[in-house]
Amino acid sequence: MSIYWSNVVKNINPYIPGEQPKDRKYIKLNTNENPYPPSERVIQAMKDAANSDIRLYPDPECYELREVIASYFNLNIENVYAGNGSDELLAFSFLAFFNPDRPILFPDVTYTFYPVYADLFNIKYETVRLDEEFSIPVELFFRENGGIIFPNPNAPTGKDISIESIKKILDYNKNVVVIIDEAYVDFGAESTVELIKNYPNLLIIRTFSKSHSLAGLRIGFALGNEELIQGLSRIKNSINSYTIDRIAMAGAMEAIKDYEYFKSTSRKIINTRERIIVKLKELGFNVVDSKANFVFISHPVIPAVDIFNKLKERGILVRYFNKPRIDNYLRVTIGTDEQMDCFLEEVKNITVI
Ligand code: PMP
Repeated sequence: MSIYWSNVVKNINPYIPGEQPKDRKYIKLNTNENPYPPSERVIQAMKDAANSDIRLYPDPECYELREVIASYFNLNIENVYAGNGSDELLAFSFLAFFNPDRPILFPDVTYTFYPVYADLFNIKYETVRLDEEFSIPVELFFRENGGIIFPNPNAPTGKDISIESIKKILDYNKNVVVIIDEAYVDFGAESTVELIKNYPNLLIIRTFSKSHSLAGLRIGFALGNEELIQGLSRIKNSINSYTIDRIAMAGAMEAIKDYEYFKSTSRKIINTRERIIVKLKELGFNVVDSKANFVFISHPVIPAVDIFNKLKERGILVRYFNKPRIDNYLRVTIGTDEQMDCFLEEVKNITVI
């Protein structure tokens, strides 16, 4: 605690990102990065951008990038916004659409950044209890609230929610903004993009960090009704005009255009995931149904924290959350087949006595 801190700083509980260790080389299955690099075309586009007008500020409204994204999703540029990672857009959205006086709703087991933003911006929240299979009980969103947010598929469980269920939530909550965080949607869940035309209260947040292999570039985007996009723009232009640099913009544009590449790496990850799920079940693990690039697992006998520590000693990093309801689970990012075979081998050594 410092005498120089504002009351805001004194009272917040910052998000703790997954480890990015430097002490040794790990098989890194802890932060849901893509194990495959971005395509050659993406790398070349970034090199070209670095060699051109880098002394000039980038376009603050990211028109070219937004146009490429809009055309990919069959939307207008007015329905698209871009940000420095989806985390930035999530933060802007909390400020733009949620008020301090009415509690917003999100699942009790979900992305742990949501309560951090809510606290930072002084927004009240209530959590909706997922059922025992970690599914979202839709009817628990049928009550007075100041807005709703959840990922589809959810994190850290990987479980998806159907479009029909999301429609019910949108229908019941027409007067507030419902944010669907589609960070992992390319790995098998159904996107709600088609609903934007009919639901002015729907905001979708996406990222280039996962299926597009660009976590290091920091780009995310939002899709929604024009009024919502304008709301985001008003917040962004009250904080930082230039959130996305020229190199990142060039890389992201090419990543969208080279969709065959990202579709093929996403397909590889899905295939590896399905293979790993079978193997983990054979080893006795309980594996939550996953539509993401990670699996959420627990062992009937050996505590998750012990498996976590033993894997780390053996050079494999996974994610452990010491939180209610999920403190006996591990979240394991899907890596290459080779990485996952090493992971399985070590898991077998740890759990088969
Ligand atoms: N939403 C969810 C559900 C996530 O797990 C993550 C990754 N930590 C993000 C958003 C943020 O992704 P990024 O800021 O890299 O776009």
